Amino acid sequence: MLGLMQDQPLLISTLIEFSQRHHGESEVVSRRVEGDIHRSNYKQISARSKQVANALDVMGLQFSDRVATLAWNGYRHLELYFGVSGSGRVLHTLNPRLHPDQIVWIANHAEDQVLCFDMSFLPIVQAVHSRCTTIKHFVALCDASRLPADSGIPGLQSYEAWIGAQPQTYSWPSFDENSASSMCYTSGTTGNPKAALYSHRSTLLHALAGALPDSLNMSARDSVLPVVPMFHVNAWGLPYSAAMTGCKLVFPGPAMDGKSIYELIESESVSFAAGVPTVWQMLLSHMQTGGLHFSSLKRTVIGGSACPPAMITAFNDLYGVEVLHAWGMTEMSPLGTVCTLKNKHMDLDADEMMKVRLKQGRGLYGVDMKIIDDNGAELPWDGKAYGDLLVKGPWVIKEYFKGEGASPLVDGWFPTGDVATIDADGYMQITDRSKDVIKSGGEWISSIDVENIAMAHPGVAMAACIGMKHPKWDERPVVVVVKRPDSELTREGLLSFYEGKTAKWQIPDDVIFVDAIPLGGTGKMQKAKLREILSDYRLPVA
Ligand code: ADP
Repeated sequence: MLGLMQDQPLLISTLIEFSQRHHGESEVVSRRVEGDIHRSNYKQISARSKQVANALDVMGLQFSDRVATLAWNGYRHLELYFGVSGSGRVLHTLNPRLHPDQIVWIANHAEDQVLCFDMSFLPIVQAVHSRCTTIKHFVALCDASRLPADSGIPGLQSYEAWIGAQPQTYSWPSFDENSASSMCYTSGTTGNPKAALYSHRSTLLHALAGALPDSLNMSARDSVLPVVPMFHVNAWGLPYSAAMTGCKLVFPGPAMDGKSIYELIESESVSFAAGVPTVWQMLLSHMQTGGLHFSSLKRTVIGGSACPPAMITAFNDLYGVEVLHAWGMTEMSPLGTVCTLKNKHMDLDADEMMKVRLKQGRGLYGVDMKIIDDNGAELPWDGKAYGDLLVKGPWVIKEYFKGEGASPLVDGWFPTGDVATIDADGYMQITDRSKDVIKSGGEWISSIDVENIAMAHPGVAMAACIGMKHPKWDERPVVVVVKRPDSELTREGLLSFYEGKTAKWQIPDDVIFVDAIPLGGTGKMQKAKLREILSDYRLPVA
């Protein structure tokens, strides 16, 4: 017997419809690329997202066609979030920090039809447009007066002119909630980037779970600042949870430095902010230097990399701000765990409470976790046994985009590439990473890519890339090199060899020459051993 409840698909259009109807006056404030502060609200975002939908119809875009963005966090990006997905197209947020060659590869793989970009990224678009073979329309996120006369990009139009010609009414279509809504490529693992393809259903369930009190605890009384970019897993789902709760949204645009973020928090009475540790590091040092205080900020969620204890202490003890440590992945939409306390922790002394807060947190409803040993056997939740962390749930991928049936799952579970413990209360703590990647300032660097470039140098016999702890960027890559006999290769010679072959920030910080790199039985480089050998090594100070 089926239930007798209304059968309404969970669609992204329902979020913007809800927020404009119930929280229409709730503000959306953006620091713009133009340099000023722009004020909008859910009513206007809704009307303009309908103009986007109409404009895409006029362009002849079909259901599921991809619309790419190269954009900072701002109101126009938010309008695209709702207008593109709401009308049944797929929003593809490109990461502007990648090397132009990677952007070309990703845009072609996704078969993007339209590219909407902030003017700060005009040079990137000028460098890539002729190689993006599927993009038919280029839209600059500005008004007509700011459009350059001779951009060299065929048919370039301004966003304001593009949507301005369209009506502000649109009847959002109804369709299967499992249809694709947005996509995000991750270079987290080796090989070519892979895309997680989110659905309307997965996005809505994730937004619901993310807004809950023991997750990010978002409400209509909050003023929320997503510093985490909208090109990073949909800014951790915050735009959707925001529309669901009707909270005020504050967008930082391109200005992520401590001073700009502090000013925005104060001027917009931000109560809750989200970002990676590197961003908070810059904010804290600005505050400490200037002897500043927060007047409205109550909570920050910190994820993407492990949150250092000193950061939790500084936010809490100096500024009275609660830090929520969170963990997730592109493949998980991304929220997996958030570290909120249980009743039993409330009376703990400061040291014991810190031990709990440093953990990555407990699973949200909807995310199941397990840890396994090398033989695949499940390990106990005792806070000591550590093993490979696997997850499953309705907002975890089952296959990558164009995966052609090849599933990354192991017995229905997604292997995260993280190594963790889980304690008896369900708190997960990451102890290591089994995937061969380095995370610098919240962005991935593939060790294999770094090694391959070194190996292409005629003076290199073998190269291994490993991550080294860095106070600002969390990790930075160094490349350990065995020279070919008779090679005169120098550190500077190899570092300059990287230029132009990868994004600047992906170039290793240092080259360490060694006589041999430890190899395992199958000839594989033993990076754990290499890390041990280099345990006394310190990165050069920039
Ligand atoms: P995001 O940066 O949004 O978390 P990515 O897919 O780029 O998503 O990165 C996911 C990976 O980042 C995780 O598998 C893990 O290795 C690392 N990570 C994310 N959050 C944390 C955290 N709180 N502590 C340690 N590592 C983390």
